Amino acid sequence: MEIVIIGNGITGISAAQSLRELQPDWKITIVSGESTYHYSRPSLMYVFMGHMRYQETKPFPDHYWAEQRLDLVRGWVTGIDTRAKQVKLKDGRALPYDKLLLATGSISNKFGWPGQDLPGVQGLYSLMDLKALYENVKRAKRAVIVGGGLIGIELGEMLVSRGIQVTFLVREESYWSNVLPAEESAMVTRLIQAHGFDLRLGSELAEIHAGPDGSVGSVTTKSGERIECELVGLTAGVRPNLAVTEGTAIPTGRGILVNDSLETETPDVYAAGDCAEIKTPGEGRNTLQQVWYTGKLQGRCVAHVMAGEAKTYDPGLWYNSAKFLDLEYQTYGFVTPRPSEGETYLWWEEPTGPRGLRLVVQDGAVTGINAMGLRLRHRVCERWILEKASLDFVLDHLAEAAFDPELCRRFEPEIRFALRGQPVPA
Ligand SMILES: Cc1cc2nc3c(=O)[nH]c(=O)nc-3n(C[C@H](O)[C@H](O)[C@H](O)COP(=O)(O)OP(=O)(O)OC[C@H]3O[C@@H](n4cnc5c(N)ncnc54)[C@H](O)[C@@H]3O)c2cc1C
Repeated sequence: MEIVIIGNGITGISAAQSLRELQPDWKITIVSGESTYHYSRPSLMYVFMGHMRYQETKPFPDHYWAEQRLDLVRGWVTGIDTRAKQVKLKDGRALPYDKLLLATGSISNKFGWPGQDLPGVQGLYSLMDLKALYENVKRAKRAVIVGGGLIGIELGEMLVSRGIQVTFLVREESYWSNVLPAEESAMVTRLIQAHGFDLRLGSELAEIHAGPDGSVGSVTTKSGERIECELVGLTAGVRPNLAVTEGTAIPTGRGILVNDSLETETPDVYAAGDCAEIKTPGEGRNTLQQVWYTGKLQGRCVAHVMAGEAKTYDPGLWYNSAKFLDLEYQTYGFVTPRPSEGETYLWWEEPTGPRGLRLVVQDGAVTGINAMGLRLRHRVCERWILEKASLDFVLDHLAEAAFDPELCRRFEPEIRFALRGQPVPA
């Protein structure tokens, strides 16, 4: 049996590793245009800021892949012949497959802005983007970043670390307010301003203009303001990378459409990770799931399906973690910008912050947690939510969740006092 996996991100390699365990004799080939070896995409910023070397972003030594008999092919896939069961590469090579996994990840969003393809305009997704950034910063004193999500703030931090003046255009009236409740959003907004970003809230890009040398020289916003800059970072979200499905009959919507076993409608073709759109994702879950841990889970799940088992994807409890500049953020369960019907939001914030904790309570049980500037233990938070722990229980056992004992000693009594004082419907 010959397996071809397009993409060596977390999804593709998780699938390959699981398949190798399940089927020791199958031939497994992983194709990627970006790099020969898997690396950790979230580490891109640390390479640029000099905190890590590229070599250190590879979780497995280069000899690991041959030892596992996982064949690595470096090249861009330009077509798939699903009848002949062949993957075609840009350099003319063709790879036959019996089963094919599409794990092609995402691409940065571009919304047709005039000037979006000028030299000096870029996203932050891949090693190619990182390489472009090393070049683009050489001529940049001022940068404009468009889009107020996680990648925008990372790019801003990277540029500020090089002494570049950053203007950050955020469409919303407060940073990431379409995801974070008001207090968390306000906390991050203040932090961004304190770090010297020129944060423009309620501001949208209209056009990017070339300077005298043909590279980007300025942008104008929808309100007509012109901002001079030599670099534009487009970080207004990502969308599934569907390019390999062009010219095929593999059905796509926003992503590559799959059922809850991650099978496409095309026989022996599967899709998982950022590029997949799950038609029936389960209550409260998005059809697109574009984070690291869901890629890993989907990769492992699809391996079982490809190996012939009847298995459906279970995303488990929603979890995410990120860093806004020096502020760590963790979220467990569903914490939406505003409480849904029947939910009560409790919020503690350290006056001298930035630190905060939000508990979402429904029918007396804790159903969601946001931690800002506090490190919590994943397993404990997950257990509380899955076991529907009561608010009283969670407050009494806060110390169990604290990852850092010093933080726990310092804030736990305050948190308990503050949250017990807030009304929760009986
Ligand atoms: C800067 C940045 C920071 C992030 N930080 C976090 C974080 O802190 N936490 C978190 O949960 N998530 C984070 N994410 C998101 C996370 O990295 C993605 O969800 C994850 O990488 C998706 O994995 P994947 O394997 O599905 O796709 P990818 O990692 O995108 O891998 C897909 C691979 O397929 C290859 N490929 C695509 N098309 C072709 C083709 N035609 N031919 C050959 N190869 C092809 C690509 O080159 C790529 O290597 C971050 C993303 C970025 C960009």
